Amino acid sequence: MLGDAAVSLPRVGVVGGGLAGIAAALAAADGGAEVTLIERRQSLGGLTSSVRRNGLWFDNGQHVFLRCCTEYMSFLGRLGASDKVYLQPRLEVPVLAPGGKRSSIKRSGLPAPVHLVGALATYSFLSVRERLLSTRAALGLLRLDPDDDKLDAVSFGDWLQRRGQSDRAIEVLWDLIALPTLNVSAREASLKLAAKVFRVGLLDRADAGDIGWSLVPLAELHGASAMKALETAGVAVELGAAVSDVVQGERGIATVVGGKRLGFDAVVVATPPRAAVGLGAYSSSAAVDRLGTSPIVNVHLLLDRRVTDLALAACVDSPIQFVFDRTESSGLGSGQCLSISLSAAEAYIARGARDLAREFFAAVGEIFPAARGAQLLDCVVTRERAATFKAAPGTDSLRPVTATKTPGVFVAGAWCDTGWPATMEGAVRSGLGAAEQALAFLAGPVPGADRELEGAAR
Ligand SMILES: Cc1cc2nc3c(=O)[nH]c(=O)nc-3n(C[C@H](O)[C@H](O)[C@H](O)COP(=O)(O)OP(=O)(O)OC[C@H]3O[C@@H](n4cnc5c(N)ncnc54)[C@H](O)[C@@H]3O)c2cc1C
Repeated sequence: MLGDAAVSLPRVGVVGGGLAGIAAALAAADGGAEVTLIERRQSLGGLTSSVRRNGLWFDNGQHVFLRCCTEYMSFLGRLGASDKVYLQPRLEVPVLAPGGKRSSIKRSGLPAPVHLVGALATYSFLSVRERLLSTRAALGLLRLDPDDDKLDAVSFGDWLQRRGQSDRAIEVLWDLIALPTLNVSAREASLKLAAKVFRVGLLDRADAGDIGWSLVPLAELHGASAMKALETAGVAVELGAAVSDVVQGERGIATVVGGKRLGFDAVVVATPPRAAVGLGAYSSSAAVDRLGTSPIVNVHLLLDRRVTDLALAACVDSPIQFVFDRTESSGLGSGQCLSISLSAAEAYIARGARDLAREFFAAVGEIFPAARGAQLLDCVVTRERAATFKAAPGTDSLRPVTATKTPGVFVAGAWCDTGWPATMEGAVRSGLGAAEQALAFLAGPVPGADRELEGAAR
């Protein structure tokens, strides 16, 4: 414990109620600080949210995690939400194509890295030669160090091509993993981030890539669970409160909300990058421009009948990248809700819902024959323009470390320098790191509490 209630606890302000902000607020409160979390929107969860339409829930985008996402899973435990997710006992992704063609990416019970050799050897969307070359390239990834900065200068696509990967192998194998984890195609990705994903998420440990997903809407998994956990931890949560400035006073840091100053001893700015620049927590607007953004679109189709028993599938030779059965979590009583997740979705982001409904209902019919006789009852499209930064070569140096130029102000978020791509795991790790640094800062010579800042007009 840092403080003593009889004296006064050090005050930590957290700006932004996404996963990074929630993780930071809980960790700071657990560390003995008096914490206020300030969120612009009316709910917590940030980029993990849900919309309600005609009594049903649709997530802003399908979110999955892997068994290697250890901090995210601990975070769910801290929220009391571990029982609201499902985690595969053993990685298995059916891979489907039009015309009933089917294969799968499935791990065996053997230790890493041979746990995937069988899957690659039998992956029927590639020729035997392509499978051999892919296995060699996968073993080549094991020789890369994801912490080696030099890898960030190289594109994963170039690296794959130099290892004899055909266009087909990149499309139906490497993109299957790169698109949902990096939100860019394998060709466009930074080799450093790709190495991180493939090493930590698939190759280093046999069980690392087992996939997990929420059994309930994200608004419940993260938003509502976090609200409860924060309240229990004594964190004050201000919703619908946009911070317009973070300023250093003589004896503390003030956040400005609606013209009012709230005084803190340390502040964690856990907003998206553009907002962090606006608040002065990250100085380089040019770096944020270069970091860029990559969109994700989800097309949620409501069908009058069940057309598949699969919980998830990847698709090749189809516009569908991944499809998830979200019937139960949506609250649909009969029929089926299929959510189609489209990463690096530049080609879809501006297209109308009707147009997308037509294209993807037809595509579902090609993949699941039972859908051909089904009726499309409704289609909801969720679009996130800035779902993640663009995980391209050269982005590593643009991601800030937690400490900022202003003592007592820390920055957090999935876009920060976590070594991970922009994921829930990265967000939680970043939030925890920022809280740790804020607590360490407060444990040092504390610059005195400036209670008078509170509530006073600027
Ligand atoms: C559609 C989609 C699908 C995804 N799929 C996956 C997946 O399958 N697996 C995975 O691991 N990751 C996935 N991600 C990425 C993951 O959701 C994000 O990396 C993570 O949620 C980011 O959390 P964060 O806290 O860093 O940022 P955010 O969630 O962006 O939180 C920032 C918060 O700051 C608030 N804010 C901004 N400005 C202010 C201000 N001035 N004052 C107060 N508050 C402010 C915002 O409202 C927001 O709540 C996906 C993202 C999207 C959009």
